[in-house]
Amino acid sequence: CGIVGIVGTEFTVGELIDDLQKLEYRGYDSAGVAFLSTEKVNIKKSIGRISNLRKIVEPDLFSNIGIAHTRWATHGAPNDINAHPHSDCTGNIAIVHNGIIENYAELREILIKNGHTIKSDTDTEVIAHLIEENYEGDLYSAVLKSVKKLKGAYAIAVMHKAHPETLIAARKGSPLVVGKANDKTILASDITPIIKYTKDVVFLEDGDIAILKGNDIRITDVNGNIVLRKTIHITWDE
Ligand code: GLU
Repeated sequence: CGIVGIVGTEFTVGELIDDLQKLEYRGYDSAGVAFLSTEKVNIKKSIGRISNLRKIVEPDLFSNIGIAHTRWATHGAPNDINAHPHSDCTGNIAIVHNGIIENYAELREILIKNGHTIKSDTDTEVIAHLIEENYEGDLYSAVLKSVKKLKGAYAIAVMHKAHPETLIAARKGSPLVVGKANDKTILASDITPIIKYTKDVVFLEDGDIAILKGNDIRITDVNGNIVLRKTIHITWDE
């Protein structure tokens, strides 16, 4: 339902949740965050309001990378386990997703045959395990290979423990916006959480995959070719 991601200079987990809260108006049944701290991917998630999520996080913890999500369940009941972010078997990957993966049952079956343990009932978790399967040291390539297998609609944001400076985003059928501030890049499912950081935003198009690194944004198509997208200047205030 709602996605936020930040990468760059340090911010607190509390700030990341404040940014997520700007998407609250969309309605949701659960919420969660993933961030890097003490050299591991920490995932905190909870059914219910963002205020429930705040009860289980330390707001003053610093991180250089994080993703956050409000969920409107389509596959799997609203509960703590099905809330996003989702992870893979290694726990190194975290992903948030808006949309519906139509071929998730088929992918899930293949992944289970390949030895993956899937914890939730969501269509989203299969994407984390697909990325794990395709990961050979380069997160962007792993996401690229994985999204080619997906049927349906998605906006995703992915982070990996081994790549503390890089967020990968991809979209098809669900909106995703990216923005570049002086010391950070931000992504979100709409512009409301972004305008606090920058008024210059880029709307990803279907099939786009974005690499957000420090304050640099690079966008490619599903074949890995660089694509140029217009930067739009937002004139309204926060
Ligand atoms: N299909 C996913 C789920 O049910 C994402 C739903 C959403 O867009 O929030 O978890």
